[in-house]
Amino acid sequence: MPRLAIVVPTPAHSSLSGPLTYLSELALPAGTLVRVPLGRREVLGVVWEPGAAGAAPVHHGEEKAIAGVLEGLAPLTAGWRQLVTFSATYYQRSLGEVALAALPPQLRDLTPVQLGRRLNRKASAQAAPAAAGRPLALTAEQAAALDAIEAGAGTFLLFGATGSGKTEVYLQAVERLLARAPQAQALVMVPEINLTPQLHERFVARFGAAVVVAMHSGMTAAQRLKSWLAAHHGAARIVLGTRMAVFASMPALQLIVVDEEHDPSYKQQEGARYSARDLAIYRGRIEQARVVLGSATPSLESWHAADSGRYRRLAMPTRVGAGSLPAVRVVDMNLQPKQAIFAPPLLDAMRQRVARGEQSLVFLNRRGYAPVLACGDCGWKSECPHCSAFRVFHKIDRTLRCHHCGFTERVPRHCPACGNADIAPVGRGTERLEEHVADLLADVRRPGGEPVRVARIDADSVRLKGALERQLAQVHAGDVDVLVGTQMVTKGHDFRGITLVAAVQADSALFSSDFRAPERLFALLMQAAGRAGREAARADASEMWVQTWNPAHPLFGALRRHDYPAFAAQQLKEREQAGMPPFGFQALVRAEARTQEIAQAFLEAASAAARPLAGDHGVALYSAVPMSIQRVANVERAQMLVESASRGALQRFLAGWRPLLHATREKGLLRWAIDVDPLAI
Ligand code: ADP
Ligand code: ZN
Ligand code: ZN
Repeated sequence: MPRLAIVVPTPAHSSLSGPLTYLSELALPAGTLVRVPLGRREVLGVVWEPGAAGAAPVHHGEEKAIAGVLEGLAPLTAGWRQLVTFSATYYQRSLGEVALAALPPQLRDLTPVQLGRRLNRKASAQAAPAAAGRPLALTAEQAAALDAIEAGAGTFLLFGATGSGKTEVYLQAVERLLARAPQAQALVMVPEINLTPQLHERFVARFGAAVVVAMHSGMTAAQRLKSWLAAHHGAARIVLGTRMAVFASMPALQLIVVDEEHDPSYKQQEGARYSARDLAIYRGRIEQARVVLGSATPSLESWHAADSGRYRRLAMPTRVGAGSLPAVRVVDMNLQPKQAIFAPPLLDAMRQRVARGEQSLVFLNRRGYAPVLACGDCGWKSECPHCSAFRVFHKIDRTLRCHHCGFTERVPRHCPACGNADIAPVGRGTERLEEHVADLLADVRRPGGEPVRVARIDADSVRLKGALERQLAQVHAGDVDVLVGTQMVTKGHDFRGITLVAAVQADSALFSSDFRAPERLFALLMQAAGRAGREAARADASEMWVQTWNPAHPLFGALRRHDYPAFAAQQLKEREQAGMPPFGFQALVRAEARTQEIAQAFLEAASAAARPLAGDHGVALYSAVPMSIQRVANVERAQMLVESASRGALQRFLAGWRPLLHATREKGLLRWAIDVDPLAI
């Protein structure tokens, strides 16, 4: 009987990271989906190329035969397998973990009979996509960008101002592709589930529902399987999804769009900690598909790649309809009345907006009523007993909730430490801000004489299914005068009536120890500004207000001028001097244990074992340190930074270090993981 190398879901922490050998009656081609015995279970597996992926096929004990083939499913392509192999190697995970996580869970869970039924349901012959909606007449900038994408190859950085019409470029790039290549497929990624429904709507309106499928974690297992099968069989010509969609099986993939490519949500934060943006670029290269990265505030990695000519930069600086970008007003809070939450001129500007029937968006990146509840007498604070963090006061249901471990209690009537009845909220979140705004504007009347309507959108307000859609619809319909929200509302939405955006507390990120904090803050503020003045007729009166205690910070100067290139140049210079990404390469090893000592001892022991290896590869290993939130759910967390000037050297070092990490024993250690190209340090 022929022997096959088969990738199976090996536990993430076993040292088995390559395929296992099985016997098979038939010589099945690589990519075939099979069921195989593993231990006492029967699991889903993928036939791999013999001897591929570095690790030789091993199997302890007697050789076993495969249990069955998933009939009716074409093999996964060589390109898909190469993507999985690369992801596992680059992010230091096992092949089986990455491969199986990239497949819809139902492929694994359904019986052969159930799966057969699903397959039969697959839509019969698909008609050519009927373009239902009409494409818009392009602006000159859009047309130039589209032509460059058509004529070129490789990766493009579509550097388009907010409201410059990037989505229309994506739509028409897809349209031209589908018209040109009868079988071709396109993958369009967005950073957050919230943004998929709107985009889905626009693509369905343009191309018809038959050829567009969604892929994100908010879908049921059955929906995911359906989308996956449609893409795998080629009936779906367009896949829209979040980061997981980068692994979609798309045999005729020719175009990949990564919208808002700078967004940190593209980085997976557990399991294989991959960057879907970076994998999209790799996938584009192996499939010879064009890759379009779109953003008004590109990541410094992508900006640098465009500077150095690796990506082709396409600029769309002008808003569609010639509406201008909002005027940015930086307010020096040192000069405002003490305790003012809103500077008087900002408040005044908001009142005028309400009176004129225009909308305002007030933005604060902290949900809940107040981040801390404290006793004025004894100094008690609402610490979480399980985490090194405060529990947030939520007034709506009178709870103290830990945003890290979820621990929730009713707000105590008296101070739990001294019995004082006078415990008070300190600081503010969106809930309190909403209340405050409603108070401050209580006497303002709308043009029709009605009182002001204030609403809030954040993770708490949208907990119920359909709530976000409902709340956004209210904003779009003009039923809200002032919208208070977290960063959830600053991204992507095409609000037409908003003419004022205010960031009330912009400073915390300026002094963060994370070197990426300024980049993130700048992107956030530019994105937020991008929600104002999208209706050209009112754009000239639109404003972005930023309240800060540090108005002289260069970040605000660049923001005032909407000058991302200047900001990027300044940041890149600092990064280059410090050898930080994109000029240097980093990985983190994180360890979790019952005590901080154990977590750190593990990292130090693994580091000691790696010292000769690090020397050979020119890699710097730093000391183990507690993570910024040191304890979560009673687990102590520590991390160790690894740096190198060469991506290749870092990769070779990590590959050599991984077995040493597996071999390092520390009593009481719970788990550890490698994070390559970490986004938060
Ligand atoms: P971005 O994603 O760059 O912020 P959008 O794609 O949301 O911008 O476009 C902003 C608005 O301009 C949308 O309402 C869109 O329908 C409209 N728009 C885009 N391109 C055109 C065009 N060529 N002609 C008219 N309107 C357009
Ligand atoms: Zn007290
Ligand atoms: Zn907690």
